[in-house]
Amino acid sequence: MQEFSEFESLLCRPSSEKNLEFQRHGRLKHIIAASQLTPPLLDKLCRSAELIRRMNRHPDGNRRLRGLLAHKRAMLYFTQPSTRTFLSFMAACQILGIACNEVRDPKTSSEVKRESKMDSIRMFSSYFDVIIMRSQIADFAECCAYLMNDLERQERRSVPIINAGAGSDEHPTQALLDMYTIIRTFDFDENSDSRPSRLNALRQTYPGLTPGPSHKTYAFCGDIGRGRTVRSLATVLSQYEGVKLVFVSPQHEVLVMDDELRQRLKASGAEVHEFNSLDAELGGSSLLGQIDCLYMTRIQREHNSSDTEREISEIDLEPFRLSVERVGKLKQYTPIMHPFPRDCVVGEIPTEIDSDPRAMYFRQARNGMWARAALLVHLFDEADSLYFAYSDVNRSRV
Ligand code: ASP
Repeated sequence: MQEFSEFESLLCRPSSEKNLEFQRHGRLKHIIAASQLTPPLLDKLCRSAELIRRMNRHPDGNRRLRGLLAHKRAMLYFTQPSTRTFLSFMAACQILGIACNEVRDPKTSSEVKRESKMDSIRMFSSYFDVIIMRSQIADFAECCAYLMNDLERQERRSVPIINAGAGSDEHPTQALLDMYTIIRTFDFDENSDSRPSRLNALRQTYPGLTPGPSHKTYAFCGDIGRGRTVRSLATVLSQYEGVKLVFVSPQHEVLVMDDELRQRLKASGAEVHEFNSLDAELGGSSLLGQIDCLYMTRIQREHNSSDTEREISEIDLEPFRLSVERVGKLKQYTPIMHPFPRDCVVGEIPTEIDSDPRAMYFRQARNGMWARAALLVHLFDEADSLYFAYSDVNRSRV
């Protein structure tokens, strides 16, 4: 895109090189890609999310949280449809006292007067302290981060950029909340107040079930090729030890995993398997019976050309849909996740599954609010104040 041409040469560098520019003194400056979410950073963010979640239960904790970032303002610039990401960021801002404003339809901004996207972003940075953005243009958020870095070098006003969904490429804050959900689910510390009791009891039945995200089999089902949540979460999981990543998708070129992701995941040491049905076998026995965490996704029809739409509408999606029978083959603890929205016509997760204790998707969406609040606290370097407020509130409650 012409507007981004000055940043084009920066885009094709390895992520290890780019990520250095999105951090400052070991702390995130912008969040653009899931590869920035390393296991130690995730531990920190998930700990903060836990504190926020617990503090928010009580009026005095709630009040202290609202004072944490009451001097900040956020711009929610969402030019692609969103329900959960938009609302959970807004709720996260409200929890922390951050005032927010929004542009969701570029037709209501000066872009209709031929203002460039980059000028719009620079304007937002004049009025707000963080820009949370979603766009169908995959590289837009990354280019905005480079713009902010250039401004900082020129000693001009520069603010953090949060990528809240970039085309079919990346969705790092979804990976953050997904990891928070996984870490909470597999936390067996009785003192951590992380709802572990059901799983703790099941550890008798499954002695191989270890705490934490490592040494587990994760299965992703649906639109693997264009699901940005799949790309981002798989990238994060591949950093953990002994992880098996299984991808189940219809055999259509746009729906199967692309080779860049396949090679990257393998290079990170993860064991990668691909199948074209949930009923497949892995190593001679039922795949469903071996999964520790199941991540369902919808077919991303909005990316279809008319030819692709026709081809995909002819595919039988039954092998990629959950049923009571398929859920019955899962381990008794296996969380069923979905970034949502689910497709109510295809029904990849029928509503009859919702009452199963393994159905995690509504809690997962709620976790987005705590995880995104933790991210904002981290970006504004207020984690110490959060810990201080937490112990203060706890002390006064004893
Ligand atoms: N809400 C997720 C996203 O924004 C998943 C989806 O739309 O299917 O990518």
